[in-house]
Amino acid sequence: MSALFASIDLGGTNIHAAVATAAGEIIADLKEPTHSHEGPEGVIARMKQLLVKLGATTNRRPQGMGVGAPGLVDFASGTTRFFPNFPTQWRDVPLGARLAEFIGAPVWVLNDARTAALGELVYGHGKAAKTFLFYTLGTGVGGAVVIEGRIRLGEFSAAGEIGHVTIDPHGLPCGCGSRGCLETLASGPAITGEAVRLVLAGNAPMLRELSGGDLNLVSPQLVAEAVQRGEAASTTLLGRVGEALGIGAASLVSALHPPLVVLAGGIAQLGDAIIEPMRRSMVARVGMFPADAVRIVRSELGDRAGLMGGIALAVRGGNPEKNLSL
Ligand SMILES: [Zn+2]
Repeated sequence: MSALFASIDLGGTNIHAAVATAAGEIIADLKEPTHSHEGPEGVIARMKQLLVKLGATTNRRPQGMGVGAPGLVDFASGTTRFFPNFPTQWRDVPLGARLAEFIGAPVWVLNDARTAALGELVYGHGKAAKTFLFYTLGTGVGGAVVIEGRIRLGEFSAAGEIGHVTIDPHGLPCGCGSRGCLETLASGPAITGEAVRLVLAGNAPMLRELSGGDLNLVSPQLVAEAVQRGEAASTTLLGRVGEALGIGAASLVSALHPPLVVLAGGIAQLGDAIIEPMRRSMVARVGMFPADAVRIVRSELGDRAGLMGGIALAVRGGNPEKNLSL
C-alpha cells in the first residue's frame, strides 16, 4: 500500500483539501467555503473538519501535509505573517504547528503562488522544463521563480513576488506600498476597473451590451468575449494588460533566460487575448539575445496547481528546494 500525503489549498473563497499518493494520484478531495470573516479560529476549525472527513474516507493517516496560504508565511516555522485579504490579516498564527498536532504528522505551510509553482514543477510543465517563471493572475498577481528544479524562496520565503515589479513608476498605489506594480495593471480588479471606466465613458458599446448595462456584471471574462466579437476598446484593454505582463517578464527573462513562462489563475483563462500581446511585448524588450523561443503557456494543472503543490510539498518532506524524482 503506497504512502498517502495530504494537501490544503486555503483560498479567499474556498478551502480545498485532498489526499493523494506521491505520484500525484488524488484519492479523495473536498471543498468548503472559507468564511474568512470568522477569523483564524473559525477557519482552522473548518480545515480540521475537512481533514476528519478525508480521514474517514481513506482510513489512513497521511505521512505529511502541505498547505498553500494566501499571503506571507514564515516557511521554517509554519507561522503566518500577513494575509493581506483576510480579516485580522492572520499575524503570527502558528498554523503549521496547530495542524501538525491535529493530524499527528508534519505540516509545511508555503505562500499559495509558490505552492502552485511547486505543483507545476513536480506534476505539470516542470516535467519538461526545470526553469520557469510562474505567474498567478487573479485578484492579485502572485508568482514564483523556479531555477533548475528549485523554487527560489529567499530569506523571508517571499522571493518570487514578480507581480510587484514596477511597470509604471507614476502608476496607481499598490497594496504592497509601492506604486505602478504589475498587479495594479494585470489583476482581475484592475481589468474590471478599467473596463467599467470604458463602459461609463461610452467607449465600449459591445461590453455594455454583453453586460446588459449592469456594471456589476462587467468582468475580465466579459472583456475577453467583447474582444472575440471584435470590439476595439476591449482589445486595446487586454492588449495593454498583455503588454504590462511582457514588460515585467522581459526583465526577468533577460536576467534568467528561462525556456518557459507559465500563467495560472483566472486571468490566464483569457488565453491568447493576453498571451499574444505579452509575447510580443516580452520579445521586443529582450535585446541582448533572441527570446522568440521562450514559450508562454497556461498552467497544465489549472486550478489544481495549488492543491498538487501541497502534495508535492508533503512528498518532498517540506523542502521545496529539494530535488525529488517521482
Ligand atoms: Zn505592489
